Amino acid sequence: MNFCGEPVLRAATRDAVDKLPARLGRNQGAYHGEGIDIAAVLRDNLESARQHGWTVESLVPDVRYPVYALSRRVPGARRRLYFSTGIHGDEPAGPLAISQLLRENRWPAEVDLWVVPCLNPEGFVLRQRTNGEGVDLNRDYRQPRSHTVRAHIRWLERQPHFDFAVCLHEDWEAHGFYLYELNPDGEPSLAENVIAAVGAGIPIDHSPTIDGWPARGGIIRPQIEPADRPEWPEAIHLVMNQTRHSYTLEAPSDFELGVRVRALVTAVEALLLCRDEERVN
Ligand SMILES: [Zn+2]
Repeated sequence: MNFCGEPVLRAATRDAVDKLPARLGRNQGAYHGEGIDIAAVLRDNLESARQHGWTVESLVPDVRYPVYALSRRVPGARRRLYFSTGIHGDEPAGPLAISQLLRENRWPAEVDLWVVPCLNPEGFVLRQRTNGEGVDLNRDYRQPRSHTVRAHIRWLERQPHFDFAVCLHEDWEAHGFYLYELNPDGEPSLAENVIAAVGAGIPIDHSPTIDGWPARGGIIRPQIEPADRPEWPEAIHLVMNQTRHSYTLEAPSDFELGVRVRALVTAVEALLLCRDEERVN
């Protein structure tokens, strides 16, 4: 296990915090920001993947709403990381952030990567959280009803253990960026590094309770017993089957879309950052 938990990023200064963007006030009762052309985003992803030598697998070979998995394996890899996004169709910043990262292709050397760049393309077309049948895919991992989650789980079963997994989301109610960390074995955490890096460009949600969970400095570390929970999000499935460490990133979607995309890209880069690894390209 080669986690790099050194605090390499400084927290935002007071002056910088005062200049941070503010909420737009658009999200009354739901997300009311802009949508995205998910088909165009996915075309860009496939183009980036082919250009940079990634393997492309089709999880759901639907003509209108295909779901892909991308992977990049390198000789002598020291870490295996997994990223997914786009499971909620009213959270556009995640797919845009992953698309940007794939296009820029500035991943660390010696890291094997698996990326699912959009789990719910139909939700984006319909501009809704759920899939076309009204299923919240991120509650469907314990007794899966949707063909998407069943296909995703079958694909995951063929992949190796990941050092950590990252799920990119947005929250329409949040006052700022926050994240969940599932880390049952107490491995070195990168959560504070992520908050410090992201906090330089967007407010952090410092609420003591977020989404019903106790939170501190924008970090939620839920103490959960998966067996007691009737519905599993993707992150619990991952921690029960594929990894022992997950981060769920939550950008606040009442801010400008570009600011949210930048926050998620910054968070991913903070998770990838490791002093003893040189960036490629
Ligand atoms: Zn979400």
